[in-house]
Amino acid sequence: MAVIIDGTKVSQDVRDEIRKEALRLKADAGVVPGLAVILVGDDPASHIYVARKEKACTEVGFLSREYKFPGDTREAQLLDIIAELNVDTAIHGILVQLPLPQHINPDSVINAIDPKKDVDGFHPLNVGRLLTGNPFHTSCTPSGILELLDRYEIDIRGREAVIVGRSNIVGKPLALLLLARHATVTVCHTRTRNLPEVTRRAEILVAAAGSPEMITGDMVRGGAVVIDVGINRLPGGKLVGDVAFDQVGEKASHITPVPGGVGPMTIAMLLKNTLHAANDLT
Ligand code: NDP
Repeated sequence: MAVIIDGTKVSQDVRDEIRKEALRLKADAGVVPGLAVILVGDDPASHIYVARKEKACTEVGFLSREYKFPGDTREAQLLDIIAELNVDTAIHGILVQLPLPQHINPDSVINAIDPKKDVDGFHPLNVGRLLTGNPFHTSCTPSGILELLDRYEIDIRGREAVIVGRSNIVGKPLALLLLARHATVTVCHTRTRNLPEVTRRAEILVAAAGSPEMITGDMVRGGAVVIDVGINRLPGGKLVGDVAFDQVGEKASHITPVPGGVGPMTIAMLLKNTLHAANDLT
């Protein structure tokens, strides 16, 4: 059976380090990192995510401010709030919880955030900096995956990495991060022909498709490191990833569980980006 990569433990270690660094920043410069989270509408999952982010902030000694708006809020109102937060010296990170209601253009909202405060790493400037090898804020889930690989001392350089999924928030930025660390990267999607043939090449296989247990044992090379980003709720309520954990766990060298793998790392990296922003803006 593969080594199970314990994202809950690594996330806790990262948060402990962040709490210590935040204390030092307060002692040395009198600065408390501040995160503003903007939530529009009443999507229940978004409310849960935002509550978790706030709790995580408070636990590491950050200031956390929440801005909740009804679903019919106009885009212009959001842009006004963002403009205020951009110049608010107590706030170092601004996060707009996605998805936004249909009538609001997410690109306009993200583009309005000061790139230095864009702790989600979604602003085109931050994406461009990642692309050109000079990253500032990097998207949280992909950087959480790198952190997991590093803390388990998994070599990336020269290895064959295959990512299933090409979204702007996971697949694409992860491809760039792995490329920067000298992996040979292949990105798959719904038009990829003969997916199992491609995934079987992977020494590092990342599933980020949002398709329950689609990566089966026959799609995985023996000894591969398998990272499961997927979060899927089955009709009975059970939470599963994109990887058939038991089958794949028999063949892989390392595997992340769902829950308790990549998920907890995303919030830890959000805190890390906020601390980075606070240091940079101080
Ligand atoms: P998107 O829906 O934006 O993207 C999914 C990608 O997977 C697309 O590129 C799609 O291809 C591809 N894909 C879907 N099904 C298949 C298939 N059968 N074969 C090959 N490719 C496929 O999803 P996200 O990137 O936002 O999220 C992916 C998963 O990760 C979701 O389950 C989400 O809940 C989870 N997630 C977890 C996070 C965490 O913190 N753990 C954070 C973010 C996401 P195409 O482009 O051709 O449509």
